[in-house]
Amino acid sequence: MGRSGTGIHKEDIGGSGSEKVLDGERTADLLIERHPGVLKKFLGTFSDVVILILDEEGRIHGCNRGFVRLLDLDSDPTGGRIGDFLLPESLEALTVSRGDAGEKVRLNFQSPSGIHSITFRIFNEGGERILFGEKIMPTNTDLILKITELNNEMAGMTRDLHRKNRELEKANVFITNMMNTDYLTGVANRRFCMEALNRAISAARRHEMVLAIVMADLDHFKRVNDNYGHDTGDEVLKCFANVLRSCSRLEDVVARFGGEEFVIVQPHNDRIGSAAYAERVRHIFQEMCFEKIPDHLTASFGVAQFEKGDTSDSLIKKADDALYRAKSQGRNRVVTA
Ligand code: GH3
Ligand code: MG
Ligand code: MG
Repeated sequence: MGRSGTGIHKEDIGGSGSEKVLDGERTADLLIERHPGVLKKFLGTFSDVVILILDEEGRIHGCNRGFVRLLDLDSDPTGGRIGDFLLPESLEALTVSRGDAGEKVRLNFQSPSGIHSITFRIFNEGGERILFGEKIMPTNTDLILKITELNNEMAGMTRDLHRKNRELEKANVFITNMMNTDYLTGVANRRFCMEALNRAISAARRHEMVLAIVMADLDHFKRVNDNYGHDTGDEVLKCFANVLRSCSRLEDVVARFGGEEFVIVQPHNDRIGSAAYAERVRHIFQEMCFEKIPDHLTASFGVAQFEKGDTSDSLIKKADDALYRAKSQGRNRVVTA
């Protein structure tokens, strides 16, 4: 048989297909006989092999540096309990192991740096248990599988996060709408009306554009409630709001300003355009029939145009004054400031 120059061959170490087995115990005998100091130094201090000597109750009689390094201990654990370092199921596995002829047991140790998994061979001798262990490094395949698993988990979490963000956005839109909307009529509320008016005034100032508002109030509305009930009054308010909305343009803001009082902000409209709008609404509303109300209902309107120096409050005041005049002149009419 031709031999290459390495010196050691498959047959010598019991490689596949060979009957011969390397006699490791003979080498150990030689070491113990001739070089006990080297063996002691290596196992006790240098090796990453973990050695533990325990009594029947799991108290540590001895351990090598490999154990101290593994768990990064800063004091000698001798005299302590092995259970203090093990995860509960590992303590259970250790307790039930018999330790016949170097039985294999995998134990998980808990340390500040994480969990360390060690496979031990256990020997029982003279009332003591001797454990020899080796930290098994994960293979590349193990690592790739673990990374893939983590990547998948992260992709799932990212998907969840996107879904939750979309839900949150929807919830925010819903809350914002609720905050800006009048619950009964579905048009804007007073808060949103004032915001919209302030924005419209800024734009009108900056771009020197016209802007007008209409203030509308139902005539003798108290009588509707008194004669036909509050629910009927509510229905009338909803109908009136619908007429205001259907006659307005997209950029207009129709808002319920108070009980039976509405304000319509009309960017790009002057007093004439807004008065025409109010006239249209007035006409449609007075022609409407309500099931439970035999008489026709009417509304009055005050129109005001934005002028240099106006604020939202002064513009509202001008429209309110015009509305007051419409009421005092006999109602069911449009008065322009
Ligand atoms: P005027 O022509 O001078 O405006 O008389 P009016 O009766 O319409 O005015 P007044 O201010 O005396 O009464 C307004 C009424 O509007 C009184 C109040 O009960 C009613 N009102 C306010 N908010 C609501 C509401 O949400 N639903 C109903 N049904 N009625 C309301
Ligand atoms: Mg009224
Ligand atoms: Mg009123």
